[in-house]
Amino acid sequence: MSERAEILRRLGEQAEWDVLVIGGGATGLGAAVEAASRGYRTVLVERADFAKGTSSRSTKLVHGGVRYLEQMNITLVLDALQERGHMLQNAPHIVHNLSFVVPIFDTFGLPYYGFGLKVYELLSGKLSFGASRMLSAKKTVEMLPSVAANGLRGGVLYHDGQFDDARYAISLMRTFEELGGAALNYAEVTELIERNGKLVGVNVRDCEGDDRFELRAKVIVNATGVFTEGILAMDGDRESLLSVSQGSHFVLPTDFLNSTNAMMIPKTSDGRVLFAIPWHGATVVGTTDEAVDGASVEPRSMEMERRFLMEHIEQYLGRRPKTEEILSVWSGLRPLVRKGGGATSKLSRDHTILVRPSGLVTITGGKWTTYRRMGEDVINRAAEVAGLKKEPSRTRGLRLHGWTQDVAAIESERVYGADLPLIERLSEEDASLKELVHPRLPYRMREVVWAARQEMARTVEDVLARRLRALFLDARAAIEAAPRVADVVAHELGRSEAWKARDLENFYAVARGYVYEGE
Ligand SMILES: Cc1cc2nc3c(=O)[nH]c(=O)nc-3n(C[C@H](O)[C@H](O)[C@H](O)COP(=O)(O)OP(=O)(O)OC[C@H]3O[C@@H](n4cnc5c(N)ncnc54)[C@H](O)[C@@H]3O)c2cc1C
Repeated sequence: MSERAEILRRLGEQAEWDVLVIGGGATGLGAAVEAASRGYRTVLVERADFAKGTSSRSTKLVHGGVRYLEQMNITLVLDALQERGHMLQNAPHIVHNLSFVVPIFDTFGLPYYGFGLKVYELLSGKLSFGASRMLSAKKTVEMLPSVAANGLRGGVLYHDGQFDDARYAISLMRTFEELGGAALNYAEVTELIERNGKLVGVNVRDCEGDDRFELRAKVIVNATGVFTEGILAMDGDRESLLSVSQGSHFVLPTDFLNSTNAMMIPKTSDGRVLFAIPWHGATVVGTTDEAVDGASVEPRSMEMERRFLMEHIEQYLGRRPKTEEILSVWSGLRPLVRKGGGATSKLSRDHTILVRPSGLVTITGGKWTTYRRMGEDVINRAAEVAGLKKEPSRTRGLRLHGWTQDVAAIESERVYGADLPLIERLSEEDASLKELVHPRLPYRMREVVWAARQEMARTVEDVLARRLRALFLDARAAIEAAPRVADVVAHELGRSEAWKARDLENFYAVARGYVYEGE
């Protein structure tokens, strides 16, 4: 019996769950791990793949948020810095310390950012990632060889965290399973079930076979990110809660940054923060912050965002990328809780919890970095609503699946942590699995097999976008690798030739949106 069939069987056997979580992004997975680790019987349903939404499209920073410090949101920064420390301790295979250099071009910038980043470092207390310090102009260029040196006065060095967001989500999903939880992807909540004014369960559509089934639970947690209002509407609440803001990134060859340090521009000409960071052997530049009308499953970058990124890469990294040098373009949507009007960059990145008279518990907003804290807060409320036995949170020191101190030297392999020897063993049985998925991608065929067997990957896109990060790193290479990956996925999941052809078409349709076509 396949892993998915086994989960469906378990769902059929359980008459009532304690906690049911809708949404398999950072927020839902964090809440699910929190609930299961307290001993509550917990189920999570995700209508696409785990981290298909915003949670695979972040800037990959595990951070307190220097910008929020400037906005004087000290509580958010303090909380996030604490969480940053917990994430590094609990998943050292997926999170690491990264040096950031802020190049300074004006006279007041040096003392201003020097002081601000010292405060940022001190706020992290015992969980500090390292000391910040001022740099001369010469040292700044040494640490960031690509920086436009014209008018450079110096720089400030500080430390923050970096991670692989979708891999972290997969590790959370597997941790949740190990705690006894049941997580199902491609399972959409289509209706809430109510008895005497209180929610008692949900109707679910199995998106793989179109079957429908019911799940009963004592409390339902809505963690659907930018789709939050869709679930609230099922509960009769049609008020507008969220503003949606889009952020886009460009991925460039590594020589654009040409450094193991990241660059942070605290204020671009139009007042935004911009990062250029080394990630899995490439350079990620982003992000933008543009209000959009509503949520979409596959957001696409807008012309104004692409222009903004182009101009600022030229300004700060010294040259305008050619079309073929933009390896991938990806966009994500921020669910920002509306509190009055104003620009989306000024809206709070704090999280919000709402409890409806029906007992529906909604959590939205926040950041990837604060996912655990969000999970703790929402499960406290959910346990009250459901009248569950009060249990303390245990996640602050909970090691995630794959935890090891012995991390691999290669960044793309490091994310597997303790699983890596098991993955390597696959190619001892079949040497062809040692081959690269594509000459320009840092992944091997054995990782495709592993994704299908152990990580609930159900499609070529699941493998190439979120188990391996190929689509985010080099969209054209991912498209070229797809037929070979499809053969393996179809073989592992026992799929037909017709399924394979359909799945490849679906993948190409999505992947084309990541290819930069020129201005
Ligand atoms: C451009 C950008 C950059 C960012 N960078 C950072 C960063 O560097 N660091 C940081 O800490 N944070 C960052 N963030 C914030 C962070 O990514 C988000 O706060 C976080 O990913 C939100 O997760 P979520 O689980 O709430 O939403 P999502 O990841 O969108 O998850 C919601 C899930 O609900 C599912 N769903 C919806 N409806 C249903 C239904 N009916 N049934 C079942 N499932 C359903 C969706 O398919 C989706 O997978 C960034 C955000 C953006 C947009």
